[in-house]
Amino acid sequence: MSKAIVSSLYDSEVFRMACRQFDQAADAINLPDTIRDRTKYPRRCLAVSLPVKRRDGSITVFEGYRVQHNLSTGPSKGGIRFHQDVTLGEVAALAMWMSWKTSLVGLPYGGAKGGVIVNPNELSESELEHLSRRYMQEMVNFLGPNTDVPAPDVGTNEKIMGWMMDTYSNHVGHLSPAVVTGKPIALGGSQGRREATGAGVAYLVKKYLEDMKMPVADASVVIQGFGNVGSETAIALERYGAKIIAISDYTGGIYNHRGIDIKKALTYLRTQKTLVDFEGGEPISNNDLLELKCTVLVPAALERVITETNAAKLQCRLLAEAANGPTTNAADKIIEARGDIELIPDVLCNSGGVVVSYFEWLQNLSNYYWDRDEVMQKLFAILDKAKSAVDTQKDKFKFSRRLAALTLGIQRVADAKAARGLFP
Ligand code: NAD
Repeated sequence: MSKAIVSSLYDSEVFRMACRQFDQAADAINLPDTIRDRTKYPRRCLAVSLPVKRRDGSITVFEGYRVQHNLSTGPSKGGIRFHQDVTLGEVAALAMWMSWKTSLVGLPYGGAKGGVIVNPNELSESELEHLSRRYMQEMVNFLGPNTDVPAPDVGTNEKIMGWMMDTYSNHVGHLSPAVVTGKPIALGGSQGRREATGAGVAYLVKKYLEDMKMPVADASVVIQGFGNVGSETAIALERYGAKIIAISDYTGGIYNHRGIDIKKALTYLRTQKTLVDFEGGEPISNNDLLELKCTVLVPAALERVITETNAAKLQCRLLAEAANGPTTNAADKIIEARGDIELIPDVLCNSGGVVVSYFEWLQNLSNYYWDRDEVMQKLFAILDKAKSAVDTQKDKFKFSRRLAALTLGIQRVADAKAARGLFP
């Protein structure tokens, strides 16, 4: 009998949610006590203070984190989030989900995540660069191509990954592109990485709609969050012929039952920075948007937006979790009991991002670069395999699709830990 002696360091709603998901999956596969807690809890974390000189000469100290959940199956992998609501518990939950995701899709990685408590929209470009470089500088002995490899997440992007890579490279004394993924192409970024997560979401949506005998060309789609993942999902689904009827960002949403012109929305966003006053439809709140009647609902912003309050009111046929952790445990139960909504769980749905990050890392390590078609072809082959494994597991054990995906990911991590033994 093992007993975890774990403090409340990570305690938060979202960490408890990730733990409840783990417990349910571990019970379902009878994970032995001897391996359960070792698989469940994060391996280690680092919290850092990040002083940044501001435009007015003052200094602000930001707080940053990195949580490495699992390193048993390879270097840990996971994005870095810049957002004002970041907590250590949230970062730990996101790191945990990365472990199950990389294992589910068969990548030679563990799971990690990073975050800084900051609203990046309030920083100048130079302040943002200083913050990003300082974060990497503080993490320099904790990260590396064979240890832990970050990538972009909410509030971070290619440019920030470029600054972080440059900072790390200066520290080690040579170019080290494989230390982060999601970099600009000019710095060793991969073709297709920018659109990978959204393209993967759209590909899986198309595949699941085919299974449901509902052509993607007839689908209406609602997307919450119009950043990297949300906008790339919209672009790819529009290309497949679907109609995007609502989109949103942190300021609110736009609804147009005839379909939103995604190109126009992106052009507007580039100049105006938010969707406020975009004239492609009527304004709608982020809450109302989730309850719109549609074929596909894609939460692509933050965690815990589908809750026991709105789960019974959803009017979609397919819920594609592009965001990490968008559905609470209570909402999960309601959706399962309803039985009229197919769900693509986050660890499968948004895995295209980490798959192409893996391709980027491989290209950096081998100094041999692939073209976009090769990247996309290999991405879709991996997604097909993961989808088929999840659906086989679901049918074999009569699991929900989330439970099927989690049990596959968790089992692989647990097997690796058991095979490695306990050191010392
Ligand atoms: P991003 O910063 O590019 O975009 C986030 C979007 O969400 C923005 O449009 C922002 O305005 C919006 N948003 C923020 N708060 C909101 C709120 N309260 N209500 C509605 N919208 C809100 O981030 P991203 O990289 O697109 O990440 C989105 C989600 O996808 C996150 O859950 C992230 O963990 C997940 N994800 C990202 C990747 C990746 O490759 N970037 C990979 C896998 C999963």
